[in-house]
Amino acid sequence: LPPRILIDAGAFETLLLSAIEVYPSEAIGLLFGTYSGSNFRCRLCYPIQAAARRSRFVYYSPFIVNRLIEAESSILGYPLVGMFHSHPNADARLSNEDRRDFLDGGYRVELVVSVRKNRSERPWVLSNSKLSGTVAGYRFELVGYVRSGRRILKAELYSPAIEVFNALVELRRSINSLESPSDLAFLRAELEETPALRVKGLWISERERRRRQRLILRLLQRFHSLYR
Ligand SMILES: [Zn+2]
Repeated sequence: LPPRILIDAGAFETLLLSAIEVYPSEAIGLLFGTYSGSNFRCRLCYPIQAAARRSRFVYYSPFIVNRLIEAESSILGYPLVGMFHSHPNADARLSNEDRRDFLDGGYRVELVVSVRKNRSERPWVLSNSKLSGTVAGYRFELVGYVRSGRRILKAELYSPAIEVFNALVELRRSINSLESPSDLAFLRAELEETPALRVKGLWISERERRRRQRLILRLLQRFHSLYR
C-alpha cells in the first residue's frame, strides 16, 4: 500500500491560499499533525512569512522554523510532520535540490503544490498520486511525498475540502454564496469525521465517499432553500 496523507479542510484551504498569496513567487510552510505508520494527517498548515522569495527559489531561516515548532507544540500539541512549498507555473515534482533538502530535513512529509492561473473550472480528482483541481481562477496540482529512511515514496493524497469545492461546482455556486458563516461551519463539522476514519487505516470506500458527497449536496441545497 502507498503511504497516505490526509489534509484537514482548514489546512488545505490555508495551503491553497498561501500559494495564491505570493504567486508567482514560491510559498513555503510547515505541516503539523498526527501519524500512524505511513498514514499522515495534516491538521494545521503554517505558511512561513519571513522568507526570501523568487519564482524558483525560497529561503527561510532555520531559527524561525525551530521557534515555530516550539510554539506550536506548546499551543496545540501537534508534532511537525512535514513541509510544503509551491511551484508557480511548474510541475508538482521534486527537483534534485528539493530531494536533497527533504532527505536531510529530518521530517517525513513533503508536499509540492503546482499553481497556475487558469480561468476554467475543473473538479478535484486524485489520479496517479496527483491531486488536482481549480479554485478561484487558479489550477492546482499537489503531489505528496513520504520519506522512509533514505527512500522517497509518492503518497495518496486526500482532503475533505475537495468534496465541498466539487459540490459547489456541481451546484454552480461560489463559496461566497453560502449565506451564513454557520453554513460552512456545519459542512466542515460533517466532513471532519472522514479523516479521523482514514488515519486509523480505514480508508473509506468509493461508495462511502459518494454517499458523503450526496449528503453534502443535500445539505447545501437545504441551506439555499432555507436562506432564499
Ligand atoms: Zn521545489
